[in-house]
Amino acid sequence: MKYDVLILGGGPAGLAAALYAKRAGVSVLVLERSIYGGQVTNTPTVENYPGILNISGVDLAMALYEQVTGLGIEVRLEEPVSYQLDAPAKAVATARGLYEAKAVIVANGVKRRTLGCPGEERLAGRGVSYCAACDGAFFQGAEVAIVGGGNTALEDALFLSNNCAAVHLIHRRDQFRGSSILAEAVKKRQNIHLHLNSVVEEITGEEKVAGARLRDVTTGEETRLELSGVFVAVGLAPDNAAFAGQLALDGAGYIQAGEDCRTNLAGVFAAGDTRTKEVRQIITAAADGAVAALGAANYVNSLE
Ligand code: NAP
Repeated sequence: MKYDVLILGGGPAGLAAALYAKRAGVSVLVLERSIYGGQVTNTPTVENYPGILNISGVDLAMALYEQVTGLGIEVRLEEPVSYQLDAPAKAVATARGLYEAKAVIVANGVKRRTLGCPGEERLAGRGVSYCAACDGAFFQGAEVAIVGGGNTALEDALFLSNNCAAVHLIHRRDQFRGSSILAEAVKKRQNIHLHLNSVVEEITGEEKVAGARLRDVTTGEETRLELSGVFVAVGLAPDNAAFAGQLALDGAGYIQAGEDCRTNLAGVFAAGDTRTKEVRQIITAAADGAVAALGAANYVNSLE
């Protein structure tokens, strides 16, 4: 199947790109490998998208999806298995078929980091979770921990504290990376207990999570917590290994592209969290989608 523009990823960057590409008059296909909305779906509440006072991440993802499909844009839930980006005719293969395009927008987002401590992998889905918005409801009245010091960990701590008996927020430094407005809100919550300068050495439990062993990195002192759940929110990492050799990546593995979203390859654009950038937010991902789509449409038009 042939399209003008092929978009890899159905998060805010990819879906915004689809919207702008369609409105620019080019044919477009979106391929998403797992879930429409991307990381947004892990966010309990979005309160910093201009014009929207408050919306759940899932509702925002659904609204994006409905807006795009409502315009007749084709979106497919298929995982790419190979890419040809470094030729004038681009092609992406999935298990179901081969998709060819004149331009490609890579908007594949990022993947979650893990702690890598003993017990984490074994107890994943048995009390270890990476998504408070998805799994928090299973821990009503329970004692849980959340690991991390960014906006995700702070937001999730607040979210979990609404229904859990106690939330232990474990962060490896004494300063939060997340915004001060969230940090202040966390500090005010009676049932959120801070464990700063602390790392998780082990998540314990046989069939399900029973607790965690922490180490204070300044004193070396160890403590044990009895817990029903451990939520891991230690950030995101690029997921671009499949593009290495074609797309130029930076030292951390993000796709090298500036604010114009142009990559080292003609006709290939990178939008959203996947590219080298300072601010990774829903609004900056959506903005990238618009920029990349207009760049891709201009590129397609220049070929005719
Ligand atoms: P993040 O900002 O990168 O924060 C990750 C946190 O995990 C940091 O505090 C980091 O510690 C800690 N960490 C990393 N590796 C660790 C390890 N191995 N063990 C223990 N701790 C570890 O990630 P995020 O919170 O997922 O946010 C990702 C992006 O989305 C950010 O740009 C964020 O601003 C954005 N976001 C925004 C909102 C919002 O605006 N409402 C909500 C959610 C996310 P250090 O601080 O010591 O590095």
